[in-house]
Amino acid sequence: MSEDTTLVCSAKGCREAAVWVLAWNNPKVHTPERRKTWLACGEHRETLGQFLGVRGFLKDVVALAEWQEREGA
Ligand SMILES: [Zn+2]
Repeated sequence: MSEDTTLVCSAKGCREAAVWVLAWNNPKVHTPERRKTWLACGEHRETLGQFLGVRGFLKDVVALAEWQEREGA
């Protein structure tokens, strides 16, 4: 099985393949240029995004394929 390379959604208990990357930063913990990332399937993009958004942590939501291109992966 080559499923190991599949990136999975970061939502708790979700095993769906990730489609989105949510880039975030907690200014109390991270330097401003630092980016933490969560992966999200189509269904959890909004719930994870809201979780980060209400805290003011969310910086960017990018399609996974685009993110990987950006990162040169
Ligand atoms: Zn999910």
